This record gives sequence, structure tokens and C-alpha cells, in this order.
Amino acid sequence: MTSELISLTAAETASKVASGEVSAVEVANAHLDRIGAVDERVHAFLYVDREGALAAADAVDKARAAGEQLSPLAGVPLALKDVMTQKGIPTTCGSKILEGWRPPYDATVTARLKAAGVVILGKTNMDEFAMGSSTEHSAYGPTHNPWDLDRIPGGSGGGSAAAVAAFEAPLAIGTDTGGSIRQPAAVTGTVGVKPTYGAVSRYGLVALASSLDQAGPCSRTVLDAALLQSVIAGHDPMDSTSVTDPVPDVVGAALRADVKGLKIGIVRELGGEGYQAGVRQRFDEAVTILEGLGAEIVEVSCPHFPYALAAYYLILPSECSSNLAKFDGVRFGIRVGEGDGDPSIEQVMGRTRAAGFGDETIRRIMLGTYALSAGYYDAYYGQAQKVRTLIQRDFAAAFAQADVLISPTAPTTAFKLGEKLDDPLAMYLNDVATIPANLAGIPGMSLPVGLAPEDGLPVGLQIMAPALADDRLYNVGAALEAALLQTWGHPILQEAPSL
Ligand code: GLN
Repeated sequence: MTSELISLTAAETASKVASGEVSAVEVANAHLDRIGAVDERVHAFLYVDREGALAAADAVDKARAAGEQLSPLAGVPLALKDVMTQKGIPTTCGSKILEGWRPPYDATVTARLKAAGVVILGKTNMDEFAMGSSTEHSAYGPTHNPWDLDRIPGGSGGGSAAAVAAFEAPLAIGTDTGGSIRQPAAVTGTVGVKPTYGAVSRYGLVALASSLDQAGPCSRTVLDAALLQSVIAGHDPMDSTSVTDPVPDVVGAALRADVKGLKIGIVRELGGEGYQAGVRQRFDEAVTILEGLGAEIVEVSCPHFPYALAAYYLILPSECSSNLAKFDGVRFGIRVGEGDGDPSIEQVMGRTRAAGFGDETIRRIMLGTYALSAGYYDAYYGQAQKVRTLIQRDFAAAFAQADVLISPTAPTTAFKLGEKLDDPLAMYLNDVATIPANLAGIPGMSLPVGLAPEDGLPVGLQIMAPALADDRLYNVGAALEAALLQTWGHPILQEAPSL
């Protein structure tokens, strides 16, 4: 029973709960059992809220029994990235500095999930404050890739992606500032979507870089991601950057799944040299499939993309150095060195930050502080903002030639734990293909397109669309997913791996 229930998609689970074929409590228990059985090895979760999950599931069952109309994801379990606040539940952002902090409020995303009857199982592991591509920068130890426990699950949202790939939850929430939903999806064989900037509220999402951060869905199928995006998206007066435009019909688009006559642009600068052979091979095959489905393939050039990574690593640290200034031992989390001598408040703040932040976080705070300092601001931060504008113009020109753009999501498959930990630049390069979308605020999806022949590990394909045209991602993604399923028995995980 457990293995059957954990293998269902979110859409299937919701319909079985709605029809009364299974209860939400049974579904929650099956996933809690699965977590109990495998998470010691995967370490996707930092906190499991058994009681809260069972209470939420029971409320769904009671609502059904009372004849109430259930929402489309009622009774479906979900794993929440630990950067999102949930009232009364520990929220660490993968950092020691927030150890013990229990937020007094729900993020808007959390509140919308609860209102939709989604059953939140717990909080997932992540690189500290969402900085990293491997989840190895978590202060609580790394998450392991369910495909090979010696390999990274991607980052920063490796916990959310691994939870979905290990069938500990059919759905998860991630956040994507430079690729942290899409790259983990690519290396774990799951689906991950970064919606249009501002489409999902950032209220209660602990900020890394406010102009780039965006929460979005993680799942095993495109339709499940669409269902989740439609629950969490929409205007929120609590977030001043939240868009007021109507939410595109992403569920309808996923069900349409028709690319006939659509123009799909391959971005010349995102591919080729530096991309693993098996990644390129699976990408090229997917292009052929899309062409076979009636799409018109064009090549587009985005000449400023080679500068995106450099611009990102000035803009992100600048915003992060400002956003993380609030973790000072006064308001949240730990306080260090108060009783040692007769320290000034500045000394206590310094000791707390030195003890509470990891190396990567300190590196970025220092980079950002430097880039923003008087005398360097124009040369670094100002220059990076100009590059950002050029990248936005590249996208505008590309979307004049194509309805959507595609590329590999990440240059390689999952690498070994420890392999890039001491080489920040090698780590940063994992996001070369995902960062441009964040700089421009446009939506992007990663979906699995098979296994690389040389190592048998999942490969992701990225789809990008103009701002507010998130529905195009789902249309193309679902069409490709269906075609892959027919061609060679889908790369998407259909059965829980034995771990
Ligand atoms: N890996 C990127 C970084 O380290 C992306 C992070 C993210 O999207 N949160 O900044």
C-alpha cells in the first residue's frame, strides 16, 4: 500500500482523495513511513512535522466527509524548502545562525498551501541562505542524490529535489535566485519551475537577493508542477514586487501539450563547449523530438550571456550582504560570546556572525560589501547592472524570433560530493545556463530528457519564455514529456528507487 501511494502523481493522489478511494491521512502516513525508511540516507529533510501533517490531512478528510468542495491539491503531501517561513516550525535556511528560530508567521506561499489543503510534511535541506549548487553548504550536512548517494542533488534546493526524486513527497517548494530550482531538478531527474519574477509572493521567503529570488514548484511531472504553481501564484499585497497581472492558465497549458507551429529557439551561447557529451546528446535528441511534433526550430544568439555569470556574482553578493545584515544575534537565532569578558554590542554581533555563518556565506557578504563600497560601486555594482540590461535586451531580441528558448539546464550531470567544494568558481559554473533567466526576471522550467549514456545519470532540458508567459513552459514541457514517454519509456521516475 505504501509503495503504491508514494508512486502516485500529485494529480492522481488528489483525485483519489477527492473520490474517497484513499484518505488523506493514509497518504500522509505512507509518505511519513517512506521518510522514516530512507531519509537517514538521503537527508532531504531538516525537520519532519509528523503531527502537523497528520492534522492537516485529517482536516481534508473531515472536509470531504462534510461534503465540502476540495481544492485541486487537497490531501497531497509536500516538502517545503527551509527558506520559507511556517508558523511555529523551525526555519533555519540551512544556517547555524537561525538555529532554534521558530517564525511567528506563515509565508504567503505557506498560507496558500495550507488553505488549499496541501499537507506540509516538513522542511527541506538547502545550501546556507540558498547559496550553492550542491547542498553541501548546509550547516546541517549535505543531502544525497537518490540516483547515487555519493553524488550531489544540486543546490541550493537539493533537499526539495531529492525529497521528490526519492518519493518522500510528490511535490516540493523550491526557490530560484540563479538556478536553485532548475539545476537540482536537472540532476535528480525531476521537474522544477522558476515562475516569472513577481508571479509568486516573496513575503515570508527569507531573502537572498531580492531582485532575483523566486519561489516555484518541484514535482515528478509537468502537470503536477502546473497544479502547484496555480495554487501558490497570484498577486499578494504583502509583497511590493508581486505582479498584479492575472495568473496564466498553466494547468490548461499542461493539458494542451501541443507544439505544432510553435517557434523554439536554441540559444547558441548555452551549449557546446564545456557541456558534457551525454548532456548534449540527450538535448539534441529532445530537439529532434520537438521538431517531429511540429515545432519549428531556430537558432538564436544572445551575445551578452557569457557575461551573465560575472554580473550575477556582483549583483547577488551585493544584495545578499545587505539582506543578511539583519542576522546579528539580536533579533533571530543564536547569540554568541555575550558572557565572554565585557563585550560591546558590536563585538557580540561580530562573534555571532563569525560563529553562525559558513564560509560561502561569509565569502559572498565580503564580496558584496566590497562591490557596494564608495569608490567601487560604479566600477562593480553599477557595471553589473548595465550588463543585466544588456541581457534583458538579448532576451527581448531572441523572443522576437522564437516563442520559447531552450538549452541544457546544467552543463553536467550530478557530480560527486566533495568534488567542487573547495573550488567556488567550478561550483558557480553549474548555473551558467540558468542565471540569465533570473537576471531578466523571465520564467524557466527544467524537465528530464533521459540519462547520459556515459554515467547513467539524469539530464535536464531548460525551457524559457517571456515574462508572464509561464503557460508556454508548461505547454512545451508537457508535449515533450508525453513524447519522451512514448519514444523510450520516460526518463521520469515512475517507481520509487530502492535506497
Ligand atoms: N547556485 C546559485 C548560487 O549559488 C544559485 C542559488 C539560488 O538560486 N538560490 O547563487
